[in-house]
Amino acid sequence: MGELSELFAPRRIAVVGATEREGSVGRAIMENLVADFDGDVVPVNPKYDEVFGVPAVADVGESDADLAVIVVPPHIAVDAVRESGKAGIRNVVVVTAGFGETGSEGASREQELTEVAEEYDLNLVGPNSLGLMSTPTGLNATFGPDNALPGNMSFMSQSGAFITAVLDWANDQGIGFKDVVSLGNKAVLDEADFVDAWGDDEDTGVIIGYLEGISEGREFIDTAREVTQDTPIVLVKSGRTDAGAQAASSHTGTIAGSDQAYEAGLDQAGVIRAESVQELFDAARVLESQPLPANDDVAVITNAGGPGVMSTDAVGDSRLSMASFTDETLDAFSEKLPAEGNIYNPVDIVGDADNERFRDALDLALGDENVGCAVVLTAPTAVLDYEQLAADTVELQEKYDKPVAACFMGGERVKPAAEALSDAGIPNYFDPARAVNGLDALSRFREISEREFDEPTTFDVDRERAREILSSVEGRDDTRLGVEAMDLLDAYGIQTPDGDIVDAPAAALEVAEDIEGDVVMKIVSPDILHKSDIGGVKVGVPNEEVYDAYEDLVTRARNYQPDANIIGVQVQEMVDLDNGVETIVGMNRDPQFGPLLMFGLGGIFVEVLEDTTFRVAPVSESEAHEMTEEIDSAPLLRGARGRDPVDVAGVTETIQRLSQLVTDFPAILELDINPLVATPDGVQAVDVRLTVDPDQL
Ligand code: ADP
Ligand code: MG
Repeated sequence: MGELSELFAPRRIAVVGATEREGSVGRAIMENLVADFDGDVVPVNPKYDEVFGVPAVADVGESDADLAVIVVPPHIAVDAVRESGKAGIRNVVVVTAGFGETGSEGASREQELTEVAEEYDLNLVGPNSLGLMSTPTGLNATFGPDNALPGNMSFMSQSGAFITAVLDWANDQGIGFKDVVSLGNKAVLDEADFVDAWGDDEDTGVIIGYLEGISEGREFIDTAREVTQDTPIVLVKSGRTDAGAQAASSHTGTIAGSDQAYEAGLDQAGVIRAESVQELFDAARVLESQPLPANDDVAVITNAGGPGVMSTDAVGDSRLSMASFTDETLDAFSEKLPAEGNIYNPVDIVGDADNERFRDALDLALGDENVGCAVVLTAPTAVLDYEQLAADTVELQEKYDKPVAACFMGGERVKPAAEALSDAGIPNYFDPARAVNGLDALSRFREISEREFDEPTTFDVDRERAREILSSVEGRDDTRLGVEAMDLLDAYGIQTPDGDIVDAPAAALEVAEDIEGDVVMKIVSPDILHKSDIGGVKVGVPNEEVYDAYEDLVTRARNYQPDANIIGVQVQEMVDLDNGVETIVGMNRDPQFGPLLMFGLGGIFVEVLEDTTFRVAPVSESEAHEMTEEIDSAPLLRGARGRDPVDVAGVTETIQRLSQLVTDFPAILELDINPLVATPDGVQAVDVRLTVDPDQL
């Protein structure tokens, strides 16, 4: 392990606040440590000479420990940590509660704790933590009721109660762990630190976690992305925080909630997200024990027709597909299987199948080069011995080194077979969908581990000009900008149509005369967010109507809001909507992940259609390109129904340039380019809206 290696492998642990007092946390931790820990335990408590027969010291400074576990009451906990730091102890677990989770006094106490940790450069877990465990040394510095079994999953949880519940269940299932940590309030060490440490730990095969929030989203993405090149991470993320739901004035702000940020962020991080505890462990167990499939094609071998159909459905719902066997395999199947069976996938070897037939069929299927993985699916019959089938399944899985999922259906009679399978790392499920989900997780992780990352492109832009435009809101109450900030896009190399903003009808006509063909005219006012909603956009205005159109737009705006601040009217070149697609490119800031980019189908109906996709910025070219492929309407961009494909490379570049803009300027709180019209000849941003925080300029 990296820097945190000592935290999970101490030689000598000081328990500050150790006691035998019935029902106390200090007692529970002492009991757990005394029971199983291979190293030394030193109780620290000036009131006692010994605790559970172990000699105590009055002061942590006398403990000579390399890990301090703090269980004293909150008002003296920070001092105890400071004393530990002074004594040269680098690793501290603060179990004591009564910090940030309890209001303003607790919050300032937590602040002080963070400062002490910084001063002494401490690896500090908590506060408000259940503690930590590490099975190789029998270390159980928690106040939970059970120790963990040894294994190679490492587990972090933001909820201590969740750890005790999971351990109780896991011990029952025979599921073991390498390290377990209760993150508590994450005053110092957070999920990214543990992901980083476990990524370097040879004894950790899979990282799992239960998180309610992620402290530093971007840092987490960058760390996890490296780690998941070889160590899988599976997380349950609970709680939809509403912290991000400030009053949004952009489309992106309205659509992009914290869950979109998590989905995008965890995806970019390479994390496999589980929706439930069952999914978490189903995925973690196969990732821990099974090889990765070379391809995504599944063979299903079954003696039961109905469940065979269920598994086909489950495959259809997953990223996997049903394998097509080679002619060779089909011939061999025809020879070995009864005529009333089915040699195509799912392979139905019929209800009277004995062990030999089952074995032959699985052997042939796994031997087929088209097959990446297999499901052995069976209902109990009088001619089939489950334990023999389990032994054959294990042997053939090893022979071909392809992942196999087992679905031996039944109750009591399945148990010995299921145990034999489980010992060999093949979990058995009653439900075919769960078996398929396990294979799905393996396939997903293969793709994650093969990902390659390109750095975000840095375009040559005019940053100073952008800053000037953004500064125009300084000293104003209203910090929103509309099409009057069109030059901001221009400064970052995003194409905009010709045009200008004028404050008199005659000037409008002058601009229109310089533009070839009809023009578009729009009201320009920070008080009017969605211009077309009030009839504030006129498309296809010939020169002779420009004068009247100007007056009409201003009248409409006045009727809508008599005291509206009207800057003027924008006269703009027409873009070719007939051959184009209106898209939206936007950004909203998420409290945890920072700038969240949105791409989708645009125009005035974005919220209705909600065909959108998200990434945490900054994005690379390939990430930006993926966004253009992910929306449901992607075929429109590629040229559906005989239309020419639009300039997707131009869209991709616009996403990247916006990514650079919002990364350069944290002052941009939200921004929409809607629409970005994409045509076969290029892209044009015809409308922009943003909100600026001048204090961050
Ligand atoms: P708002 O979003 O405030 O209503 P927009 O500037 O986005 O105002 O204009 C609304 C719609 O008008 C666009 O979605 C597009 O369909 C059309 N439109 C706007 N500008 C142009 C233009 N230059 N060329 C062609 N159509 C345009
Ligand atoms: Mg618009």
